Amino acid sequence: MSDNTTLLPVVKEHYGRVRNYIDGELVQSDSPREGEVTNPATAEVIATVPMSTKEEVTAAVDAAQDIFEEWRETPPNIRVQPLCRLKALFEKNYEELARIVTQEHGKVIDEARGSVRRMVDNLEFACGIPTLMMGENLEDGAAPGIDEEYIRQPLGVFAAVAPFNFPAMVPFWFWPQAVACGNTFVVKPSEQVPVTQDRIFEIIDEAGFPPGVINMVHGDKETVDALLDDERVQGISFVGSTPVARYIYERAAANGKRVQCQGGAKNFLTIMPDANLDACVPNIISSCLGNTGQRCLAGAVLVLVGDGADEVVQRVVAAAKSVRVGYGMDETVQMGPIAASRHYDRVLSMIDAGAGEDNSLLLDGRGYRVEGYDNGFFVGPTVFDHCDPDSSLIREEIFGPVISIVRVPDLDAAIELANSSRFGNASSIYTSSGKAAREYRYRVQGGNIGINIGVPAPMAYFPFGGYKDSFFGDLHGQGKDGINFFTERKVIITRWV
Ligand code: NAD
Repeated sequence: MSDNTTLLPVVKEHYGRVRNYIDGELVQSDSPREGEVTNPATAEVIATVPMSTKEEVTAAVDAAQDIFEEWRETPPNIRVQPLCRLKALFEKNYEELARIVTQEHGKVIDEARGSVRRMVDNLEFACGIPTLMMGENLEDGAAPGIDEEYIRQPLGVFAAVAPFNFPAMVPFWFWPQAVACGNTFVVKPSEQVPVTQDRIFEIIDEAGFPPGVINMVHGDKETVDALLDDERVQGISFVGSTPVARYIYERAAANGKRVQCQGGAKNFLTIMPDANLDACVPNIISSCLGNTGQRCLAGAVLVLVGDGADEVVQRVVAAAKSVRVGYGMDETVQMGPIAASRHYDRVLSMIDAGAGEDNSLLLDGRGYRVEGYDNGFFVGPTVFDHCDPDSSLIREEIFGPVISIVRVPDLDAAIELANSSRFGNASSIYTSSGKAAREYRYRVQGGNIGINIGVPAPMAYFPFGGYKDSFFGDLHGQGKDGINFFTERKVIITRWV
């Protein structure tokens, strides 16, 4: 710990019942249904979360719909002003937000800081809307004396439904762009990690958005269904597991909405015999075990090509063993607990299932204990070698600190294996051959490809989404895809006689 620890913001021990944000007010839900939010390192309850009712969702959509015309008529350069103010406010509260993320989610403090930085990046991108939202025109585009142009217009109310693994960042992949384009918005955070958004909306309240432009409702399926079925909601952005992504895609589309759904993942990291192991092993460990394996871009399967596999395995196991596991608030800890008890049970049962399959379990993270945190949801780094390509370890998403190794003879076999997955979110190759790298990026079916990079996470100005069962829709989140998702193009053809 640094000497200035005492200067760091202190987070609360208990946050009470988190609030909705409707029509510019932080308000308590009337719902009798609620859940508990725990600090996963201690298993202590730090808040409760309401499962908002259909009426509360309707009130949020009412507020967003009522202000839409006025907001739309506000010029883009004026619309971005509260977003610019919000960025300044987030910079001021940056460390506190990161600490709340660690407290309710468990990720180590540096990763939490990184996630808050990525959140702010999306605000910065949206502040460029006056340029990003411009249309195009062509004089004499239709015929001599007949000009043609297209303009972009906002559509109305949009909504986003977020997962548990990035409590601060994910809603910001969507709402800043949508709102900057002149739409209004309703955010539904994950009910497993709602505290960060409670604090974020306190800060949003200071930024000076007209009431109703940006709203938040906490809840679960019932709350989401109310958004999916409200005919005034023009589009839904979802990030979460594949079965829920598919469900939301189908129900929202059946109700005539735009929809973009980012789903689950199983990411393959291919290590060629010519890879620089000194550089790539730490990168692989960070990809697979960073955020305790709970990133949609986390490496999950190591595909070792050709000779030299034994050395890679030995180095990976040694590096995984040396990872310091504990409470993420401690700056020296490298891997925190699993974020929630429900998911903790699932990860353990997936390791049990893997251990029952035909492979070698080289490092077993079950039963992992961290001194002073006996009740925490800790799973240690886990490594399986010689996995059967058809086993659950290779086919199913675990979303935990589990590395499954497959050995293949050549690059073709590695690409074939990666492409046999039903997921297609991310994939990486470690090599010093440009030819192999080009072959990989050309042929692998995935939305995000890393070349000597284990977490190929697109910045705010690039599109973010997967292929196959990792994505349902066509326009990805972020970047220019986001601008297209949140605007309607209108062509105007003009003749003056
Ligand atoms: P989840 O699908 O369980 O929940 C996501 C959201 O959907 C939550 O807000 C939840 O309240 C809501 N929800 C859950 N069940 C629902 C239902 N039946 N009907 C309507 N809404 C429902 O996902 P999670 O466990 O919170 O997050 C982990 C998953 O998210 C992993 O599969 C991970 O790969 C994925 N993820 C994907 C990306 C990506 O960019 N592709 C990014 C982050 C996380």
